[in-house]
Amino acid sequence: MTQESFDPYKPCQEAPIVLPPEATFSQKEPAAKFLRPLPASLMIMGLALLLGFICDQVVAFPPRFYDVTWRIAFLEKVFNEASIPLIGITIILGGIWLGDFLAGAKNKALNLAFGCIGIVLGFLFVLGVPLYSMDVRIVQQFKLAQIEQQRKEVKPAPGSEDAAQFDAAVEELNQTMFKNVFRMNADAILAGTALILLGSFGVKQTRDKVGVGFCCPNCMSEEICLSPMDPSEASLAFTTRLHMFLCHECGWRFRRFSLTGKPFTFFF
Ligand SMILES: [Zn+2]
Repeated sequence: MTQESFDPYKPCQEAPIVLPPEATFSQKEPAAKFLRPLPASLMIMGLALLLGFICDQVVAFPPRFYDVTWRIAFLEKVFNEASIPLIGITIILGGIWLGDFLAGAKNKALNLAFGCIGIVLGFLFVLGVPLYSMDVRIVQQFKLAQIEQQRKEVKPAPGSEDAAQFDAAVEELNQTMFKNVFRMNADAILAGTALILLGSFGVKQTRDKVGVGFCCPNCMSEEICLSPMDPSEASLAFTTRLHMFLCHECGWRFRRFSLTGKPFTFFF
């Protein structure tokens, strides 16, 4: 546009934006081409980590669930390696989501399968925590009883070197047990919680509508919320978790199972 022909009071003429036909290819196609092997590679790597973790537990065979020391050794090994399945599931789900993005469609079966594996593993880690703590407590009591037994046999004079040694042994035992329980349980809780969250993201991907767990059965709207309930409905909801929901679009009231009273069956 030249200086003379420019009139600031005249509306600009809309110039059509013409993209060269190869623009879409040059922008998107090479990236997609380079990324195409990545989802499968990530899946393979994640599966290798996950299966490696499972095979690693073969050293604990044959299982002796009734044996406290076996249970402690097994759980300590599993908790120590808890980050391996966590990384494995993260890589697998990352691969699935990248594959979904490149394909432009959700692979619901894979999302559901690995989401559920993540959630189950996460709950196993978290549920192992009280079991481990109880078992360590049993062993601690047993060892303390042993030290007390020895003390009774030796009968050290109060304030003597022997008495101090027994006190030190008790102190060291308590310290070691506390540190072990804290470290192992922290590992298990952190990895377990992360696995449950990751798995729930995987399961969420299987839904067409991500915002809610279920929609209005009348108009399929997502705009639903917990409905005001009369006393009988409220007591039913309290005991069975069957809540009444209300559709904002069409006003339809319907009953659904929801653990938390939110428009999801469970926590998500
Ligand atoms: Zn509706």
